[in-house]
Amino acid sequence: MDPVKTATEKRGLEFLRQGGALADFPLLRDARAKEKLVFLDSAASAQKPQVVIDAVDRLYSSEYANIHRGVYRLSQVATELYEGARGKVQNFLGAAKSEEIVFVRGATEGLNLLAHSFVRPRVKAGDEILITQMEHHSNIVPWQLLCQETGAVLKFVPLTADGELELDKLPELLTDRTRVLAVSHVSNALGTINPLAEIVRLAHEKNVPVIVDGAQAVPHLAVDVQALDCDFYVFSGHKLYGPTGVGAVYGKMEHWRAMPPWQGGGDMILSVTMEKSTYAEPPACFEAGTPNIAGAVGLGAAIDYVNEIGLDNLTAYENELLAQGNEILGQVPGLRIIGTSAHKAAVFSFVLDGVHPHDVGTFLDSDNIAVRTGHHCAQPIMDYFDIPATTRASLGIYNTTADLEALAAGLLKIRKFFRV
Ligand code: PLP
Repeated sequence: MDPVKTATEKRGLEFLRQGGALADFPLLRDARAKEKLVFLDSAASAQKPQVVIDAVDRLYSSEYANIHRGVYRLSQVATELYEGARGKVQNFLGAAKSEEIVFVRGATEGLNLLAHSFVRPRVKAGDEILITQMEHHSNIVPWQLLCQETGAVLKFVPLTADGELELDKLPELLTDRTRVLAVSHVSNALGTINPLAEIVRLAHEKNVPVIVDGAQAVPHLAVDVQALDCDFYVFSGHKLYGPTGVGAVYGKMEHWRAMPPWQGGGDMILSVTMEKSTYAEPPACFEAGTPNIAGAVGLGAAIDYVNEIGLDNLTAYENELLAQGNEILGQVPGLRIIGTSAHKAAVFSFVLDGVHPHDVGTFLDSDNIAVRTGHHCAQPIMDYFDIPATTRASLGIYNTTADLEALAAGLLKIRKFFRV
C-alpha cells in the first residue's frame, strides 16, 4: 500500500466532512471547547494550523539566521528553507520555474509592485487600465494612483445582478489603448469565481497582459498559472492558513526580466558604486532588504498542509457546504444573498431585512459567531447593489454544516429580537 496515498485519503474529503481539520487549529479547537466559537471570517484572514505555528517556531528556535549572505551553516540552513518555500509556491501555482515567484508582504504589496514596475513604464496619458467592478480596493486604488500620475484612464467591466462580470462587454472594453487587465480570480465580497482562462484568452487576443488577484482563490481552488496563461498571479499567505506579512507574485520570466526594480536596497544588487548600481537577476532584484524569512517558511508549511488534504477535496467539500448553506440560510425569512453566481466559493454575503449588518454582526458575536460586516473593501460592489454593507460568512477548511446551522439559528434569534 502506498503510505503517502493512504495518508492523503485519510485527510481527504471524508476527513473534512467529519470536521477533522478543526483539531489542527489550536485557536479554534480551544475556543470551540471553551466558548463554542463559530469562526466564519476566513476570507478576511484564516486561522493557523499547528504545523504552520510549529514551522515558524522551529525556524526562530533552531534554524534562524539572515539568508543569502552568510557563509556559515546556519545561514545556509535558513537560506535553503526560504528558497525551499519559493519552490513550494512554484509547485502550488504550477509555475515553470521557482525564479518566477517573488515574495512580497501580501496581495496588496504585489499589486502595487506590478502597478509600479510592470505597468507604469508602459503607460502614457490617454492609455487605458482595465479592471472590474468586483475588485477589492487593493486592485483598484493602485490603478487610480497610477492614472492620476500618468493621465491614463481607468475603465471597468460592470457587474450583473448575480454578481458576475458582464463578459460580453469585455471585447469592446479591450481597446488598442488598453495596457493591462487586472482582475480577481474570486471576489471577496460575492464569492464569484471568474472564468479566468476565457478572460485571459480574450485579453491576449488584443495583446493585453493580465494580472490576476488570486487572494481569495488560492484557499479554495487548485490554480495552474501555465494552463491559465495569465501574466501575473498575486496572493497573500494569511488567507491560505499561513502567517501574515507574506505573500507571493508569480510572473512570466520574460516580464520579470523586462521590469525595472521596485525598491532599492540590499540583496537586490550585483554591484554598487557611488555613481551607479547594477541589479541581481529576478526574483532577487524584486526582494530588496531582509525579507520575511519566517513568513515564507510558514507559508511553505501552510501549502504542505493544504496539499496533504488536497485542493480538489477542499473544493469538493466547500461546494457541499455552499449548497447546504444556501438551503439553510434560505430558511431565514427576509435574508437576501448578495452574489448568486452559479460558480462560487463558499462565501455568503447577505442582507437581512430591517436589521443593519453591523447589528447582525454584533448580535451574532454575542452568540460567539464571528462574521464580517461592512463593505469588505469592495465599495463599488455595494454601490452596484445599492446597499451600504453586507454581513459576510466565509468558510474555511475547518467549518462544518453545524456552523451554518448555528449561523441560521443566530439570525432567527436576531429577527425575533428586532421583531422583523
Ligand atoms: N484582493 C482580495 C480579493 C482580497 O480579498 C484581499 C483581502 O481581503 C486583498 C486583495 C488584499 O489582501 P492583503 O490585505 O492580504 O494584502
